[in-house]
This record gives sequence, structure tokens and C-alpha cells, in this order.
Amino acid sequence: MTQPIYSIIAPIYNEHESLNELYRRVSSVMDAAGENWEFILVDDGSRDGSTEIIHQLAQGDPRIRPVIFARNFGHQIAVTAGLDYSRGKAVVIIDADLQDPPEVIQELIKKWKEGYQVVYAVREEREGEGWFKTLTASLFYRLIYRITDVKIPLDTGDFRLMDRDVVNVLNTMRERHRFLRGMSAWVGFRQVGVPYKRAARFAGTTKYPLRKMLQLAENAVTSFSYFPLQLATYMGFFAAGLGIIAIPVVIALRLTGWQFFIGQATTLIAVLFLGGVQLISLGILGEYLGRVYDEVRGRPLYIVSESPTNEEENED
Ligand code: UDP
Ligand code: MG
Repeated sequence: MTQPIYSIIAPIYNEHESLNELYRRVSSVMDAAGENWEFILVDDGSRDGSTEIIHQLAQGDPRIRPVIFARNFGHQIAVTAGLDYSRGKAVVIIDADLQDPPEVIQELIKKWKEGYQVVYAVREEREGEGWFKTLTASLFYRLIYRITDVKIPLDTGDFRLMDRDVVNVLNTMRERHRFLRGMSAWVGFRQVGVPYKRAARFAGTTKYPLRKMLQLAENAVTSFSYFPLQLATYMGFFAAGLGIIAIPVVIALRLTGWQFFIGQATTLIAVLFLGGVQLISLGILGEYLGRVYDEVRGRPLYIVSESPTNEEENED
């Protein structure tokens, strides 16, 4: 097989019920596109039989290239591995649970052919997700938008098409705590959004519990903003300012015989409040420090127990 024009990447963590349907829908869309394509299925340490189904699919269709992780590394890392192994001139990232309808890929490709290098799909509507997920997701996108230096488009996930030029740049960015939609906004190039309706999950339940969502949010904030660190400075100035104002006020009150600050409550509140602020600031410092440590340690981003063979290598 010659170099494919399109690479489709799907990260998979325990999605055995969706895989056959995913393959069916993606291949019917991509066959209609009329050009060579490959389908990179990244198994992020599934334990529900997804791995076997991926192997079966790969046996039936040489365009499927399985990347099997040694354990669960997380969604963003799985997508990264897919990008590393992709060879297409245009690369599409899609969720394996069919919440991103494969049919939208046609529209992404259309924009790519018009010359856009990053075509991201914007969620206009969400189906089958509870109010909590919808609300937190919406708040999350708006918070990130406000406090980061990169203007990450609102309500976009990782469902997107990227040109080879963009993927090549992203592949040089090896940071550990990844927020791919931020990184792909950061690189620039010609970008455009395409609206779509996010469907309900085809089967199974979300693989993003609150803990993982918070982690993603933390990664997004720390990767693209120093605002939490600066918060300590602002609070410091505020507290110091308050103290400086308080000194003459208290002296004046004392001299004029007012007995305003009696008892220990005021002291106690001030100590508790400032102690709290200091501990929180330390914790924020710790978040950044831990990330720096992770980067310095320089471990590989992921470990594969099985990677796709390159046809070119086999021919030698
Ligand atoms: N996923 C993954 N590793 C993980 C968690 C999720 O590869 O640790 C995959 C998952 O199989 C799916 C995609 O990432 O294809 C998005 O996850 P999910 O649908 O659970 O997230 P949600 O849509 O609920 O935010
Ligand atoms: Mg999903």
C-alpha cells in the first residue's frame, strides 16, 4: 500500500461494544471519499476484550493499524500515539464511542481541500449527556478561554482534522501533561470550525469520570497559563495592603479611646484566612513543580506492547 492520504485515529479504552460499528461507519465514509486511508486504533490498555476485536478487525482489513498500549495511559496520550504512527496527509481524530459522527469527516475533508490546515468540529448540541456533564464542560471551556493565553475555540473537543504540516509540528511537542486542543490552537496555521451535533454514546459508559475530567482541566490550565501562580502574588498584595491600611487605623482608634478590636476572634480569623491562602498557594506551586519534575524525568510518553508494522519495512 502506498502512503495513505487520510489517517483516522481512534483512542480506545474498553469500547468492545462500539468497535465493529465504528469500523463499519468510518469505512463507509472513508471509502466514499475515494482515496487511500488508514485507520489507527490505539488500544489504551483495555481489559474488556477490545484488544481481541481490534486484532480481528486488523486481520480482515490491512488498512487497520493497531497500536496496543502496555497499560492505560489516558485519552490524550492515546491520541498522541496515534499521531506518532499516522502517515496520512490529513489526520482525523475521532472518539471510538461514536459520539463524534464519522459522517462529519466528509465536511472536515471538504474544508481541508479548501486549504484549511486545522478543521475542528464544534459541538452545537449534545445528546444523551446529563446536565452535570454539559454544565461542567461548558464552564470548563469558558474558564480555559478566559485565563489562558491561547484562544482555544469554545466547545471543541479533539474531534478534528489536521494537515500533515500541523501534525509534524505537534509531534515535536513532547510535553507529558497534554491538552491537545490547546496545543493544536497554539501552533497557529489556517484554522476553521465546523458545527456538528454530538451524538449519544453508541454503547457503554463514559471513560471520563470526574477525576479524569479534573485532571484534564488542570493540565489545560497549567499548560497554557501562569494565572494560578500569579494569584498568590495578587492575594499577597491585597493582604499586605490591608495590613498597611489597618496600622494607622488601629493606632488612631486606640488614641481616640475606641475599643473596636477586642477579643481573639479577629486574630483567629485573620490567621486562619491567611494560613489558608498560603497553603493553597503552596499547593498551586506544587502542581506546577510536579509537572516540571515529570518533564525533567523524561520518561517515554507511552509504552506500546504492539505497534503496527510498516509495509515499507517489510519489503526490505
Ligand atoms: N479513552 C481512552 N483512554 C482513557 C479514557 C478514554 O482512550 O483513559 C477514549 C475512549 O475510549 C473514547 C474517547 O477516549 O474513545 C473519549 O472518552 P469518553 O467517550 O469516555 O469521554 P466523554 O465523551 O464521556 O467525555
Ligand atoms: Mg464519549
